[in-house]
Amino acid sequence: MRVSREQLVAAFGRAGFELWVVGGDLRDQILGIGGGDEDFATNAGPDQVEALARALGANVTTVGKRFGTIGVLLDGRWTEITTFRGDSYAGGTRWPEVTFGASIEEDLARRDFTINALAREAGTGRELDLYGGRADIAARVIRAVGEPERRFREDPLRILRGLRFAAKLGFEIEPATLAGMAATVELLATLSQERITAELDKLIQAPQAGRGLELMRDVGALPVILPELVPMVGCEQNHWHQFDVWGHTAATVQAMMKEGPHVRARCWGALLHDLGKPAVRHVKKDGEWGFYRHDAVGYELAGPLLDRLKLAHKDAAIIRLLVQRHMDRPNIAERRSVRRFIAKSGGYWEDLIALKRADNASHTYDDNAYHDALESYCRQIVAEDEAALRAESPLTGDDLVAMFQREPGPWIKAIKARLSALVLDGELAPGDRANAERIVRQSSEFRVPGSEC
Ligand code: ATP
Ligand code: MG
Repeated sequence: MRVSREQLVAAFGRAGFELWVVGGDLRDQILGIGGGDEDFATNAGPDQVEALARALGANVTTVGKRFGTIGVLLDGRWTEITTFRGDSYAGGTRWPEVTFGASIEEDLARRDFTINALAREAGTGRELDLYGGRADIAARVIRAVGEPERRFREDPLRILRGLRFAAKLGFEIEPATLAGMAATVELLATLSQERITAELDKLIQAPQAGRGLELMRDVGALPVILPELVPMVGCEQNHWHQFDVWGHTAATVQAMMKEGPHVRARCWGALLHDLGKPAVRHVKKDGEWGFYRHDAVGYELAGPLLDRLKLAHKDAAIIRLLVQRHMDRPNIAERRSVRRFIAKSGGYWEDLIALKRADNASHTYDDNAYHDALESYCRQIVAEDEAALRAESPLTGDDLVAMFQREPGPWIKAIKARLSALVLDGELAPGDRANAERIVRQSSEFRVPGSEC
């Protein structure tokens, strides 16, 4: 049965339980972003929440029940209702433990940042803002709830969450919070790789990813979670570049077009495209820095790094291909050259061109005209290839054998080739069997063995 938010709120009211809208969804509502989803917190226990929702006839999921969360389908959307949490972190654990709290105040006190620690009563709309979250949202500031260093020690993942919110929202990190991050950054090493990678993944796909990466370097997180990238910092480049390899990398991730089916691979590809540069840097004859073969070396270095990060094999393969091919520069005056570029891109030429554009964003020269021309040439070639694939002879070999009562032989191949050429030229509609037969029977061009007599 379809259950509405109003019905749920009324049921909690009747049963004497509190129900609060909380967390990042409330923050996003205030900012006017996001899809308007809501997370709820309540003093009802998970069993009670489940019973109330089932009594309404709602669809319920209990996969998160041991963490205190019941999923309820409200107005057609899955909504989480979580029992108030208590302060529960045993310092240094890889995964936080869960204990339940007695009040909304206790629940808000354990949240990470003030912008995430607001609550709004679902029924009355009354807002509870114990930590100045509204003011911080307005001032676009990320500030830890309570004493920053202690909060990051409790759960170091909060360091990465804070950097990720800076990347997602474009907010500043308040100085004491930033200092708390820097003081505890070594503790990132105690987190599971899965939790680290999930946060990095969100950070690099955020609109202000470049900012997030610069802040990550500033707090000293790189040697702990991405030591492979440390040599990029301070690796000076030639006059075609505005920044060192690290600055250029952050700018490339920032500039990457974050659209299409392979956004994850695009963003990781941008992050790693120049991974090989520090290792191959040398002085060229003209006195400039050279980075000969950095694409091939980057491809080699990216393999073990992506394994360590536990990225999915399919994504890792696309990411490595982007690193390997990011220097490809086909001659757009030559069809063969563009064809080869498409063939070598393994079907990811659009992502490769997106990387080339992003890469160019912090170069000192503008290569947009070239990229535009390359992109439209690739589109044209792919469209022509697709048309050629569709240009099948409307008659099959079996059709022709039956039609002319002749033994199969090379004559079939010749007729089919001619018919597909007519389809490709637009003189015969794809699948038009009647006209194909008429053409074959009437045309002297088609020689069917034995039909001359
Ligand atoms: P997103 O936009 O990624 O969903 P979010 O702020 O909603 O961001 P969630 O991971 O969905 O983040 O968590 C919901 C809320 O739970 C947060 O807003 C925050 O109040 C709280 N929270 C989540 N993780 C932590 C944590 N590690 N420490 C403290 N509070 C946390
Ligand atoms: Mg959320």
